[in-house]
Amino acid sequence: MQFDEIVGRVQLKEQLRDLVEQNRLSHSILFLGKEGSGALPLAIAFAQFILCERVNAPAKDAAPSLFGDLEPEAPAIVRSDSCGACPACIKASQLMHPDLHFTFPVLKRDSNHNKVLSADYITEWREFIKKDPYGNIDDWIDYLRENSHSKIDNAANKQPNITVHECEDILHQMSLRPFESDFKIQIIWMPEFLGKEGNRLLKLIEEPPAGTIFLFVAEDDTKILPTILSRAQIIRVPLPADDEVEKYLINRGMDTGRAASIASAAAGNLREAMRLGSSEGEQWERIIRDWLNLAISNKVELLSKWIDEVNTMGREKQKQLLNYFISLVRLTVRLKYAGEMAHAMVQSEKEFALKLGSMCEVEILEEMAEELGKAVYYIERNANSKMLFHALTIRLYYLIKEKYLILVK
Ligand SMILES: [Zn+2]
Repeated sequence: MQFDEIVGRVQLKEQLRDLVEQNRLSHSILFLGKEGSGALPLAIAFAQFILCERVNAPAKDAAPSLFGDLEPEAPAIVRSDSCGACPACIKASQLMHPDLHFTFPVLKRDSNHNKVLSADYITEWREFIKKDPYGNIDDWIDYLRENSHSKIDNAANKQPNITVHECEDILHQMSLRPFESDFKIQIIWMPEFLGKEGNRLLKLIEEPPAGTIFLFVAEDDTKILPTILSRAQIIRVPLPADDEVEKYLINRGMDTGRAASIASAAAGNLREAMRLGSSEGEQWERIIRDWLNLAISNKVELLSKWIDEVNTMGREKQKQLLNYFISLVRLTVRLKYAGEMAHAMVQSEKEFALKLGSMCEVEILEEMAEELGKAVYYIERNANSKMLFHALTIRLYYLIKEKYLILVK
């Protein structure tokens, strides 16, 4: 992965390059960014930047000079991004560089699988990052359950974890000399799942062998071991701006109207943007129209049938449906406030938003978005979806019942 592939955040990339160029790189760096910020792809791009043979070309026979403790006159770095073409870049981009290690929360295969390591699932991890680089921990665990090459026994697994065995493995891996570069980089994703066994790493983090770099990637610094947090240089990864997301979607082949409306709905969350973009917008729209019509007209039998169908979709699709609905509600609010500014919307979405907007005041719409957001939250926590959609239907009914609703095309 190259910086160039990371959405926007030009200044931040500049700052990272400066760290390397000016020898201000710390041995332990924490990339701290909310879900959807792309902190993980950024950390991977940074690792590739450090490993790239053309970026980091220290003078012959000199020890690594990134840390400024040796070789005050380090060779000037001219590149602004990893080259993407040297053997190191190619291996790093496939997450297969022997000096780039990954630690992430995992599940046991079954109750006999005691020494569970991230390395046990490295193939699944590579596939996941390729498919869903902005995915969160739930996406990863869902992916693991559904796609693991060896079946995972759900009963044996309550919680994903970074185990004490993994910490021992890190100590072992990092004690070896680098194989192919001057550096050994350990990326630890979601250190929030690292319990007090993480304290085993402290000595290594404090007195690392030359060229050792820890890159932690986290969403919530309040859930990280304070001992690790206090030893890390913190790099905050902001969410990208709407126009950066829009440009990114357009570059991936999305038409401009849809890209603008999704970027606006996702509010900088790239995970959300990718999900809204991949969902079949029209299909979601039809399902939501049906839902509202059935709710308002109080056709109980048909409504039950609708809920049964949604119930069989599965968690991920239900979340997509609700998030799409939220995006429509947000578009409606935007349309009410800004009128023609919403020209970039897809025509059918605009019609929907106009109708919804004619029935609901902004406060009602905001309440609606909040209810839908709560439903997403509960689905993520395994709520009974049938009950949830029943309750949500009643809530929606009371929110808009005073108004006459025609959402039929
Ligand atoms: Zn390279």
